Amino acid sequence: MRILLAIDDSKFSEAAAQAVIAQHRPEGTQVKILNVVDLAIPIPTSDAAGFREESLKHGQEVVQRAEQMLNRAGYTVQTAVEEGYPKSKIIDQATQWNADLIVVGSHGRKGIDRFLVGSVAEGVARHAPCSVEIVRLPKS
Ligand code: AMP
Repeated sequence: MRILLAIDDSKFSEAAAQAVIAQHRPEGTQVKILNVVDLAIPIPTSDAAGFREESLKHGQEVVQRAEQMLNRAGYTVQTAVEEGYPKSKIIDQATQWNADLIVVGSHGRKGIDRFLVGSVAEGVARHAPCSVEIVRLPKS
């Protein structure tokens, strides 16, 4: 099974990574962890190149943290950091990589809790070429 785990650096994304570990067996499961550097975020004109470099570095840190978590649980993992619009990039990657399942958190870093799900999660669920799991935070 091929699982595309799309994450930002939110607690909801961490719950999504935990859900993959809790619900699937490492044997026969390939996980691709994707972070999209959001091109919709305004870039400061004074240092556009520095901002882009920092954003890509931050994306790498985000995917590496999740990679370590999944590696510890025995999963084979690939990682990718892409620039673009998160919803479209997640769907493109799922299509190109032939994912069986996309896993996302119910909300994200900039999500607003009063909505049932965030806009990226909703857009992915609407347009994905495969099944989508939207992970909520465990009740505390
Ligand atoms: P949102 O819809 O923005 O509230 O985010 C919901 C979930 O979508 C997050 O928990 C992530 O799993 C995923 N997501 C949001 N933004 C990104 C991003 N830039 N790159 C990858 N996944 C993302």
